[in-house]
Amino acid sequence: MEPAPLPSSPRSSGSDPAEEEKFPELVSARPSYTVLLSEEDLRPKAGVSIPMMRRAPEFIYSPEPLEPILIPKETIIEDSLRREPERVAHQENLLNKLVYDSINASPFNPSAAELPDGTLPPYYVQQAESDTTLVFESRFECGNLRRALQIYEFEYDLILSPDYNTKGNTQWYYFSISNTRANRLYRFNIINMMKPDSLYNYGMRPLMYSTLEAVRQRKGWARCGQEVCYYQNPIKRRSASGCFYTLTFAVVLPHDNDVVYFAHCYPYTYTDLSAYLNHIAADPAKRNRVRRSVICQTIAGNNIDLLTITTFNNDKESLKKRKGVVLMSRVHPGETNASWLMKGLIDFLLGPALDAKVLRDNFIIKVVPMLNPDGVINGSYRCGLAGVDLNRCWVDPNKKLNPSIFHTKAMIKRFTEEREVVLCCDIHGHSRKKNVFMYGCPSRIRLRERVFPRLLEKSADIFSFSDCVFGLQKAKEATARIVLFKELGILNSYTLEASFCGSDFGKYADCHFNTEHYQEIARHYCDALLDFCNPDQTVVKAVLSELEQLIPREEEEESDSASADSDFSNDDKGKKPKKKKSGKKKAKESTTERRKKAS
Ligand SMILES: [Zn+2]
Repeated sequence: MEPAPLPSSPRSSGSDPAEEEKFPELVSARPSYTVLLSEEDLRPKAGVSIPMMRRAPEFIYSPEPLEPILIPKETIIEDSLRREPERVAHQENLLNKLVYDSINASPFNPSAAELPDGTLPPYYVQQAESDTTLVFESRFECGNLRRALQIYEFEYDLILSPDYNTKGNTQWYYFSISNTRANRLYRFNIINMMKPDSLYNYGMRPLMYSTLEAVRQRKGWARCGQEVCYYQNPIKRRSASGCFYTLTFAVVLPHDNDVVYFAHCYPYTYTDLSAYLNHIAADPAKRNRVRRSVICQTIAGNNIDLLTITTFNNDKESLKKRKGVVLMSRVHPGETNASWLMKGLIDFLLGPALDAKVLRDNFIIKVVPMLNPDGVINGSYRCGLAGVDLNRCWVDPNKKLNPSIFHTKAMIKRFTEEREVVLCCDIHGHSRKKNVFMYGCPSRIRLRERVFPRLLEKSADIFSFSDCVFGLQKAKEATARIVLFKELGILNSYTLEASFCGSDFGKYADCHFNTEHYQEIARHYCDALLDFCNPDQTVVKAVLSELEQLIPREEEEESDSASADSDFSNDDKGKKPKKKKSGKKKAKESTTERRKKAS
């Protein structure tokens, strides 16, 4: 579809200029509720001089049936560690051949320059028909492979790019291989991981996408790999104490001459978001339920989109009465599952369901779907271009260095001055815990902050209330959740965490989450929101009295002071929280209880 040209003056309605100045997206007389952006506007801007293909890879998404979490055999770490000294002892067997570098010129392809179609010629060129060397690529949006070293004929050491302007934060990975051979066991070792532990040691498996499987069988991203293991390797970090970590996995590829992608989680690029928002703009029903505006531009010049979802009309009094909700995601670029969850929320809120209409009639919902597009585009895991974790600068965000946080915070502040904001939620992915759960801030009214998560658990049988933590932890005081609670007085200020791996209870017990599951939780989230804000508070009162019985006062205080909520980065290593024993026991008991219920 040809995108329509951008209106020359999107602020040309004849409404009250003062009101428009303050809340431009709420002025109802504007003819077009949202705009289609041109291809040039959509183009992701990396903001750095590293080469990148003009087009991002495109995938079909057809979720697999439930994919089991495979608990690794007990000796897997020992087996993996044993390979390290074997390599040192038999160095004569190692190829140590650099076959991919995302920045430096290639000795195999020295005159390589961007082709007219915007693609980049491969770093490695097959030397003969019999050459089985894989051809790696990651110079596409969100890709982050820095180098690949061939160790044996079918084994490669891989090095990831650290987050821009940092020396670390590696966890997200996304790259492709071609020149594959069917039914061969390939082994990949990503050797510069940073986190001290990973769900890969608790059954999580990497994601793989075979282009030929997609074409021939309509198969999308699927879990893959055997002998998956995450362990500390002997390579010392130069910039800090300690060593790197290795993620190793072996995989049998299904086809000869396939192009196969691997990723830490289901990719969701800035281009995906822009295309999705354009799709909404082109939908005659949906476009009338949303306004799209731009909060600001990032350092690299990418737009921070803001969606305002409500039932638009000319009745200013009715608009004034509506309460506010704020939803945000993707402040951490590698947490792509947050985008899938956000997509589920937006789809539901703009959809035809009666519940969605009730929400639109009663609320004004502000949605910031991608807070850190620069990090997303560059394949970072945690930071923006300035090398800062944008979820650690909400106390005093810098207008130049962290514009998305500065302007989003200002937008939320104006929103709270205009109306009661009943709930604010920042969506994340969690790399060390299973399940979907929330972090909240302790309210002055006892247990009030736990009502919404408890309602969500009742609505969604894949949400885990027993994994939720409520507290104002020192290490988290500059996060969106705590700053919006403390500074702007939003009592129901949450972080929603969705595991990269899967669930350990309920109908998806011991299975991986896929894109459908992330979107499913979003639909239940909207259900819970309806119950939470229903003028008839019978359900809320029932939940509160249930919580009173469930959580004695002493346990509440204990939970508030525990800081067990961190999906900490490697830089937070020293701050690793210790979960209190009783809390752990309770969580365990509750998981068992849930299992009993499920069976
Ligand atoms: Zn996060």
